[in-house]
Amino acid sequence: MNELAKLRQRVAELEKLESQCRLAEKALREAEQELRDSEERYRSTLDSMLEGCQIIDFDWRYLYVNDAVAAHGRKAKVELLGRTMMEMYPGIENTTMFAALQRCMDKRIPQRMENEFTFPDGSRGWFELSIQPLPDGIFVLSLDITERKRAEETLKNYATKLEEANRLKDLFTDIMRHDLLNPLGIIKTATEQILVAETREERMCNTLQMIKRNADKLIDMIKSASMYAMLESAEKLECKSLDLSEIFREVANNFKPQLEEKNMKLEYISKGGCCVIANPMIDTVFSNLLSNAIKYSPAGRKIEVKVIEEKEHFKICVKDWGHGIRDEDKLKIFTRFQRVDKKGVKGTGLGLAIARRVVDLHGGKIWIEDNPEGGSVFCVEIPKA
Ligand code: ADP
Repeated sequence: MNELAKLRQRVAELEKLESQCRLAEKALREAEQELRDSEERYRSTLDSMLEGCQIIDFDWRYLYVNDAVAAHGRKAKVELLGRTMMEMYPGIENTTMFAALQRCMDKRIPQRMENEFTFPDGSRGWFELSIQPLPDGIFVLSLDITERKRAEETLKNYATKLEEANRLKDLFTDIMRHDLLNPLGIIKTATEQILVAETREERMCNTLQMIKRNADKLIDMIKSASMYAMLESAEKLECKSLDLSEIFREVANNFKPQLEEKNMKLEYISKGGCCVIANPMIDTVFSNLLSNAIKYSPAGRKIEVKVIEEKEHFKICVKDWGHGIRDEDKLKIFTRFQRVDKKGVKGTGLGLAIARRVVDLHGGKIWIEDNPEGGSVFCVEIPKA
């Protein structure tokens, strides 16, 4: 090859090299731009985060802080950057938060903590901190949890007040049960004794009857209120295997005088034993339903009690042919002290509230249906044994 040809080949090689260089340079520029874009993306993401983000170097200087850190720390971003934590927050080195930062800085182990912080202006705030080691220092993510802490504090105060109120309630229940029932019992018995001794004077007799009626009413009210208070605070009842039919028969026996007095017939329909796991207190449910069916029905009507065995529970229906209950009252009367248009009839307004609580504590249900022939049907479901 002559010299000219060699020179041409060399020029071609150089041109190829130059174009490769240009390509490499372009790729480098693009990579640099991508890096800048990516850094910008991360920076603006960190900048806009609600959590505080800060990078602190090994000399405790702020390398990066976002807006949230500036807001949390009551300082401007430009004030913080390049300055040390100790310069910006004198005394910070004596705080537990600083101890956690130091542990992460020295031992290179991530730390997590909740910290109460007092700012230079004297205000206080709570922060949740997550501290991560970085090659050039540490990264601190801080979340302002002051509101949550305040809410927790308020809740704690409510709980303490509630406990106190509960203690007072228990105290009053105890006073009712022990200190009020005894003197009332004495008043009632004394009145009965004077009445039995046949007081002839009519006015005196009426007064004694009135004292006895009111003593009876108070005794009923105190017994029901203390039972309701006990049931309200109970979370569960001790249960054993019981036959609902037997319980109902005993209850019905106790109501014989009232049934006779109003010339009412009680019909009981059941197909054999009804074994459930229940507390003996379940009898209060039947007592209340039966007592109400008698109280709120005119004389001479009948009452029907039917026990139906279903797949998972026994359903007991107490049907009366009384005045019935309006739809809008059907839920209301299970609430304590709700009595509807029953001014002349003796009662505390607590019976159904107690019945519902007892049924609830057995995992059952209680509700009211209408008797198509006039009157109401109280239905109770108790899970089977
Ligand atoms: P009390 O009978 O002591 O008033 P309850 O809680 O047992 O309290 O009953 C609440 C109210 O429900 C009664 O005052 C009455 O208005 C109504 N009620 C309950 N049972 C019947 C019923 N069988 N028929 C009509 N109304 C009833």
